[in-house]
Amino acid sequence: MLENIRIILVNTSHPGNIGATARAMKNMGLSRLYLVDPVDHPTYEAYSRAAGADDVLGDAVVTETLAEALQGCSWVAGTSARLRTVKWPMFDPRECAATSMAQAASGEVAIVFGRERTGLTNEEMELCKALVHIPTNPEYSSLNVAAAVQVLCYEVRMAFLASSEDRPLKTKTAKEDMPATTDQMEGMYEHLYQAMEDIKFFGTSNPDVIMRRLKGLFNRAQTTKREVAILRGIFSAAQGKKSARTPKD
Ligand code: SAH
Repeated sequence: MLENIRIILVNTSHPGNIGATARAMKNMGLSRLYLVDPVDHPTYEAYSRAAGADDVLGDAVVTETLAEALQGCSWVAGTSARLRTVKWPMFDPRECAATSMAQAASGEVAIVFGRERTGLTNEEMELCKALVHIPTNPEYSSLNVAAAVQVLCYEVRMAFLASSEDRPLKTKTAKEDMPATTDQMEGMYEHLYQAMEDIKFFGTSNPDVIMRRLKGLFNRAQTTKREVAILRGIFSAAQGKKSARTPKD
């Protein structure tokens, strides 16, 4: 899906920013770089700043106009350091990434970055469906263009990982660490109730109200099978009984 997302730099002055953009993209798994009328390209400086992302830089498509670079795109986001008139739907990078991923499932997507000094023109913004602003310090809102590319590409990657099966952070969950089933939870509540009675916890308070509150707490916690076993061990101990089994943890 990431291959359907292109990053477009418009009329970039500093070759270093082009190289740093290639690097930022490759770090996040993006590869399709478009350069609209770059002031100086290709350069040694860009390759030096690309730091190994030479493939992304070497494959960059150079065009004369933004319209050419956008050919084939069905969704386009323009980034801006300034909040412009409310002509465009305003997105933050996370919203932009979510929409980009959704749109990339069925078409081509572009995220466009402007000139170092003056950003994108209004005519260029007219070609975009949304305006993306990184919520920076309003008194000092303009990021270096390659840093802005990094922020957007990171959000795209996070959206991609969240939607992909092979998320590296996701390890296979052990059976005991799966959420406890309803009947396991009910068994635990019954045991908890008994234990509270045995230790004379309720006193004058209403057991139903206390149980309802505790159930609310456990529901929010997404209790696992292993945790239910630990809790039941504790209840048994409180009741002065030997735990039926020692939970392994
Ligand atoms: N004075 C220019 C600054 C351009 S910064 C202006 O006001 O537009 C160069 C490019 O980096 C911008 O065109 C945009 O693509 C990106 N950029 C910088 N800061 C940004 C921010 N806070 N949010 C979104 N994009 C930003």
